[in-house]
Amino acid sequence: MNWRLGRRVSFHFRAWNLWPSLLLAALLIGACQSSLAQEAPGSAPATSTLFQGVRIFDGKSAVLSAPSNVLISGNIIERISASPITIDAKAHVQPIPGNGRVLMPGLIDNHWHATLARVTPVQAFGDVTYNSLQAGAEATDTLMRGFTTVRDMGGPTFGLKTAIDEGIVKGPRIYPSGAVITVTSGHGDFRQLTDLPRTIGGMLTRMEQLGGSMVADSPDEVRLRTREQLMQGASQIKLTAGGGVSSPFSPIDVTTFTEDELRAAVEAAENWGTYVATHAFTPAAIRRSIAAGVKCIEHGMLMDEATAQLMAEKGIWLSMQPIPEALVQGFPVGTVQRAKAEEVSLGIPKTYELAKKYKIKTAWGTDVLFSRALAQQQGAILASMTRWYTPAETLVMATSTNAELLALSGKRNPYPGKLGVIEEGALADLLLVDGNPLDKIDLVADPANNFKIIMKDGVIYKNTLTK
Ligand SMILES: [Zn+2]
Repeated sequence: MNWRLGRRVSFHFRAWNLWPSLLLAALLIGACQSSLAQEAPGSAPATSTLFQGVRIFDGKSAVLSAPSNVLISGNIIERISASPITIDAKAHVQPIPGNGRVLMPGLIDNHWHATLARVTPVQAFGDVTYNSLQAGAEATDTLMRGFTTVRDMGGPTFGLKTAIDEGIVKGPRIYPSGAVITVTSGHGDFRQLTDLPRTIGGMLTRMEQLGGSMVADSPDEVRLRTREQLMQGASQIKLTAGGGVSSPFSPIDVTTFTEDELRAAVEAAENWGTYVATHAFTPAAIRRSIAAGVKCIEHGMLMDEATAQLMAEKGIWLSMQPIPEALVQGFPVGTVQRAKAEEVSLGIPKTYELAKKYKIKTAWGTDVLFSRALAQQQGAILASMTRWYTPAETLVMATSTNAELLALSGKRNPYPGKLGVIEEGALADLLLVDGNPLDKIDLVADPANNFKIIMKDGVIYKNTLTK
């Protein structure tokens, strides 16, 4: 008893002694706050950068500019000029001699899973800290591949996005969807049959606790789950409107949500100034999505001619992925998933042809899941688009066109400003390429050697020019 009392007294005594120094520290922090606020999060104090003598792929044109100079101030492309840009000797401007190299916008992957790209399916349901560290490392690798922005189409990415924006970990800008919303048995319901039946209002499943996907079986439940994602910072909402490849109990041919259920999500998203994208392969799933007000179809690989025409007429986005053969072969021979992967990938050439024929607004993405090796192929998957498009069309798609889809997030756009283009006033996400990717698209498949400078938001994250 006495001993305890003594401890308490001595604690109080020490606390009072500390008080003046705490006060002093608080005053000092207060004094420093204004200068700290001027710095970009997690980076050196903002300076300007001047790219000299670069040829520009602006994200839109199929030809390079004449040798030009590009001045970056803060996080904005301030000036582009064919004649020399004179800079104030006192200003902190870093000159970068381009020597005819190509300056292009940072790449955008519009169907990425930042927290699921690298881990295995077993790990994905496991330790949260391990998975977060893996996702952080993968985010840095993604940025180092020249992908300065990703649209995340499902997974617990809100914390990762915040950590990147705060400069805690290096990575791309993330447009998060948060948890994928699915029906019982749908694509994204990864439960086993032994987990059934589920009591309505009962305990959340592991995947729901992790924020990977949420099961919703009525318009009310869809509204609830949609609003929860918006509350956490979703820039768009993702629902699965039909069967999928990787989930065990969702045949490809099925249509899942009712039109009313889809519409509940669309209304909730539109009330927040943003949109819904649905995972949909078949004409039926695509058509029901469109009828409910969905603005973007993910995949669409089994669409028919009439559905393609409808998408074009209604101005619906098609977010497509040229799924590499390695991803199909990742599923063991003889499994349901392997058969589904083969069926879907057979539809890719026809869907690209339909997209071109009807001039559907087409975005590009990779949809890499559960494979670090495949994630490293992100640039190579982009380069593989030349099976259907010219290098220029491919690079326009992965920059300015993808940015157009990002802008559909409207008031929920986490990074207001122009992305995917090199023009005055746009956000400074830039790559300096050793060679001309409009001639040789394979340059983007080897970013370690060919991307000499990677800049995001005006900050240089890689510079190997001096080597
Ligand atoms: Zn996906």
